[in-house]
Amino acid sequence: MTEFGYIKNGETLSIRIEACTGCGACIEVCPHAVLELRESKATIRDRTLCMECGACALNCPMDAISVSVGVGCAAAIIRGKLSGGPPSCDCGSGSSCCG
Ligand code: SF4
Ligand code: SF4
Repeated sequence: MTEFGYIKNGETLSIRIEACTGCGACIEVCPHAVLELRESKATIRDRTLCMECGACALNCPMDAISVSVGVGCAAAIIRGKLSGGPPSCDCGSGSSCCG
């Protein structure tokens, strides 16, 4: 089965390897398997699959991940346009998903 790639997405995603403890939290919460552990450090497996939801950064206890939330999420962009506000997928309230 072919995975859907978000063209130009994931451009803002970065990991400070030196801060990563390899806990795996970011990998568990990522909905698109963007990240993987290599030699006990989180690494980016395929950044084109990233929809910049922010869940990985939100759940990293070491604040080792940086991503601009909502930039590439289609739902967030559409919601933002409809509301006249910034991109927001609105799925984070009360959960540990998005920021
Ligand atoms: S921002 Fe979302 S899709 Fe991108 S790597 Fe983090 S959890 Fe995965
Ligand atoms: S959640 Fe943070 S500390 Fe844990 S593996 Fe991911 S980047 Fe590393």
